[in-house]
Parts: sequence; C-alpha cells; structure tokens
Amino acid sequence: SSTSEPIRLEDRIRDIQDFPQKGVLFKDITPMLQDGPYFRAAIERLAAHYSGADIQAVVGVESRGFIFGAPLAYLLNCGFVPVRKFGKLPAETINIEYALEYGTNIVEVHKDAIKPGQRVLIVDDLLATGGTVEAAIELVEKLGGHIAGVAFLVELSFLKGREHLKDHDVFALIKY
Ligand code: AMP
Repeated sequence: SSTSEPIRLEDRIRDIQDFPQKGVLFKDITPMLQDGPYFRAAIERLAAHYSGADIQAVVGVESRGFIFGAPLAYLLNCGFVPVRKFGKLPAETINIEYALEYGTNIVEVHKDAIKPGQRVLIVDDLLATGGTVEAAIELVEKLGGHIAGVAFLVELSFLKGREHLKDHDVFALIKY
C-alpha cells in the first residue's frame, strides 16, 4: 500500500458472521494487528487522544485489552495493570461477577495494583454491551482509583454500551 494515503483503520477490521455463536457479527481485529503501520497508527491515535490527560495507569481487560493497553501504557509513560479472568492472578485480589448473555463471568485485579486517587485509563478492544468494562471500572473504583477515561478501538454504537458507562469519558477510534 502507498505510504502517502492516510490509514483507515476500519480497512483492517474483518466481519465474521455467526461467531462465536449464531446471530453475532464478530469484529475481528487480527488483520489490524498483523499490519504493522495499522497497528502502530491505532496505538498512536489512542496515545495522542490521552497525551494531556495525566494518565497514571492503564488497565487492560483480558485478553485483547492487553494487546492495546500495554503499548499505550508504554507511550503514556505509565504502568500497565491487567484485569484478568478468575484464578489467574497470584497475589491478593478483589473480584466481581457480572452477567453475560448466557451465564456469568468473574474478573479480578490485584489489590495493590491501583493506588487511591490514581488517574486510570481503562482499555479494551471493543465496546459491545459494556458489561465487561463496567466490571473493570467497578474494580478500579473499589480500590480508590479515578477513572480518567475509557478507550476502545471499536464501538458497536447500536448496542448502547455507553449507557452503562454514562458517568465516564468514553472514546473509540472506530464506531459502527
Ligand atoms: P461487552 O461486555 O458486551 O461490552 O463485550 C465486550 C467484550 O466482548 C470485549 O472484550 C470484546 O472483545 C468482546 N465482543 C463482544 N461483542 C463482540 C463483537 N461483536 N465482535 C468482537 N468482539 C466482541
């Protein structure tokens, strides 16, 4: 591809019909990850958006939130904190259970990962219903962190996930 054309990130997002189950249109971000200039553009655009925001920690939600959260933390010159599925973190944790379309899920974070008053940016690849990120927000707030922003690569606007995150500053690079 020509180096002079501006990068359109949506050109590297692939629709997969009926994954992981019938009726779901899955937004596959792996083509973007595979394309160096696109992956880099995505991270740089997120970093630019938060460059003046005094972010003191980036929290990434397992597992695609890790892929974007870690390089973003690097560029923002702050630490990275993983929110993980139940049973993966070795030290003392707090956890929260939240509803999925079918059943529930538990996510957790290390108790000492966030300091009271710390300005935290939460990152995930995609905002659907908002349930996952809402759980991560609750964990950070329980530890006394301040949610300075919530960032996504992709927002599925028609699912109205923002309504779950209404008090917070939500930003997405791509909206459908
Ligand atoms: P939610 O809790 O409903 O906002 O779901 C968000 C999580 O599920 C994110 O971590 C996404 O990676 C994943 N997800 C949900 N719906 C989709 C979709 N249509 N395409 C790709 N990933 C999705």
